[in-house]
Amino acid sequence: NLPTIPNGLQRAGSQAKEVVDTPPIRKKAALVSLVRNTDLFGMRKTIRQIEDRFNYKYNYPYIFLNDVPFTEEFKKGIQSLTSSNVTFDTLDSESWGYPPWIDREKAKQARDKADYINGKSESYRFMCRFQSGYVYRHPLLKNLDFYWRIEPDVKYFCDIDYDPFDFMAKNKKVYGWNMAPNEYMKTIPTLWKVTKDFMKEYPEHINENNLLKWATNEKGEYNGCHFWTNFEVVDLKFYRSKAYSDYFNFLDKSGGFFYERWGDAPVHTLAVAMFLSKDQVHFFKDIGYYHPAMGSCPKDSDRIGKCVCNPKEHNQMSYGCVRSWLDLK
Ligand code: GDP
Ligand code: MN
Repeated sequence: NLPTIPNGLQRAGSQAKEVVDTPPIRKKAALVSLVRNTDLFGMRKTIRQIEDRFNYKYNYPYIFLNDVPFTEEFKKGIQSLTSSNVTFDTLDSESWGYPPWIDREKAKQARDKADYINGKSESYRFMCRFQSGYVYRHPLLKNLDFYWRIEPDVKYFCDIDYDPFDFMAKNKKVYGWNMAPNEYMKTIPTLWKVTKDFMKEYPEHINENNLLKWATNEKGEYNGCHFWTNFEVVDLKFYRSKAYSDYFNFLDKSGGFFYERWGDAPVHTLAVAMFLSKDQVHFFKDIGYYHPAMGSCPKDSDRIGKCVCNPKEHNQMSYGCVRSWLDLK
């Protein structure tokens, strides 16, 4: 018996008004995070907000994954903040590390000369590859229909007074996002070329009403627009699909996760752009959010959801990729 929001109480400007007024669909879903033991206090901040803003009403479980075992301190520090079920697990060496075809010396040389953010980090590359191709296959996520990715040290500015999973299910949404900045193109010099090669080889996977127009410039090249994956709510059937796994395997074979520094955000985004149509993708513009460096504050934040952000300070609507999304037919 979950709380439902009576229709009359739904606030103006809230995405909740789009929800069909039927009993909630309780999907198998969880809040999921890959995280380090050293992120304990940052993660506690995130969970405190998720609980207070949303999950105290819904009690969705949490899943925490790590490349090394979680400490008792971490587990206790997390579990003590919620009455929801929390599970922890350590990754296997396939999902965190080098696939056999990678030339590690070449990968090291690429790191040594990389002059962009996280360019010199090996673990950052493992992280991006894991988030791109493994997280949704982890045994703890096996029975889930949806996941909502969370990260340490983010802010949820506003109450979320409806269930985003229920919203996604009822409205047949596959991918939900709330921020769309531009990528540092130095991190992905060949991602677009490899993606074009993939499209040539697997034309059957490309959606007729795809979103490539949004993701490319006038020259037909990837424009760097990407959904910021530190927040994403996704129907996991998408990542488990043949199309997505063919794409991930194709990218992985090319070595760009290691010889360059492909982020999971442009990878997820290009997959969305190729395989989905606009009506399957949802912009959660009512979910006020901040991840270090950038935030999004709903423009009606003075009226909705007890927000604690200044829409002028975190005005995502001025970003090119968000504008072009809103204008996209
Ligand atoms: P950014 O958001 O791109 O700046 O990258 P972050 O440093 O925030 O990493 C993204 C997520 O992956 C966060 O939840 C981190 O805690 C997690 N993460 C990053 N590197 C590692 C790592 O080496 N081990 C583990 N277990 N988690 C990591
Ligand atoms: Mn982060």
